[in-house]
Amino acid sequence: MKPLTEQDIRSSFVNCSKGEAKRLFVPHDLADRPWDVLDFLGWRDPGAPDRSYLVTERSGGPVGVTLRFPSQQRGFMHRSMCSLCLTTHPGNGVNLMTARKVGPAGREGNSVGVYICADLACSLYVRGKKLPGPGARFEESLTVEEQIARMNGHLSAFLDRLHS
Ligand SMILES: [Zn+2]
Repeated sequence: MKPLTEQDIRSSFVNCSKGEAKRLFVPHDLADRPWDVLDFLGWRDPGAPDRSYLVTERSGGPVGVTLRFPSQQRGFMHRSMCSLCLTTHPGNGVNLMTARKVGPAGREGNSVGVYICADLACSLYVRGKKLPGPGARFEESLTVEEQIARMNGHLSAFLDRLHS
C-alpha cells in the first residue's frame, strides 16, 4: 500500500469520533514501515492493551478501523485461526477483536467481531516475511498472490459489514 502519514491515518477512521481519532496512539515509526508488503497497517496501543487499530486502502482512500479486545473473551481461546490471513497460531496468537459499526448502528452499540493475528501482521504472514511461532499451522496450496487476494477479500468483507 501507499505510505501514509500520521495525518492520513488520523483522518481515515470510520468507526470512532473525531476526538478519539485525534487522541489515539499512532506509531512513531511510520516512515520505517514496510509499506510495499503491507495490505493494511495494523498496530496495538501500548497504553491500552485492549485496543488495536488497522488502516487499509480502499477505492475512496485510506480507511481506518478501531478494534477492541472484548474483556469477557480474555483467557482461553478455543479458536486460533486468523479470519483474514488464515494463519493458525498457537496459544494467544489470534485475538477476537470487535469493531464498532459505522454511524448510528455503532453509536447504538452494534459491533462486528473478527479473529485476527494478535500482532496484526497478516500481510507479512501471507508473504512468508514473518513466520508464526512453533506449533503454528500454515498449510497452503494457493500461491502467495492468491493468498493476498483472498486476505484482501476477507478484509474487504469485514469492512463492508461495518456499514451494514
Ligand atoms: Zn492474520
